[in-house]
Amino acid sequence: METDELEGIIKKRNGRMTRIRKAMLDIFSAAKVPLTASVVTESLSKRHITADRTTIYRELRFLEETGVIREVRLVGRGRSFELSGGHQHHLVCLGCHDVKSVSFEGHLDSEEERLLRDERFRVSDHSMEFYGLCDKCST
Ligand SMILES: [Zn+2]
Ligand SMILES: [Zn+2]
Repeated sequence: METDELEGIIKKRNGRMTRIRKAMLDIFSAAKVPLTASVVTESLSKRHITADRTTIYRELRFLEETGVIREVRLVGRGRSFELSGGHQHHLVCLGCHDVKSVSFEGHLDSEEERLLRDERFRVSDHSMEFYGLCDKCST
């Protein structure tokens, strides 16, 4: 999603486009992996925006409630967030806790159809994380 598009979503929800929100949208748009609150804080201070923890968490909650970002729970990492747009899975290294986002096109479609058929369960989304060792840590 483009930042303009994200701004549109926020305005529709009667959210004001403050400096910190705009910066956070930029940060999430540029991020290739889910970000923790402390990484977001760091990135903001690089942009000369200082915000305390309460503000950061309030803004993260706002962006989550508007559906712009979603929370990703990864073992060995604090609460992390990523843009809601794409469908991502994550490779989490148990050695260095590095995270990489990967996507598979429609990989579980047939399984989800089977769940609807056999379990009468209508899947709207799923999350899947892969844990293991990255190239650096496995040598
Ligand atoms: Zn590693
Ligand atoms: Zn998937």
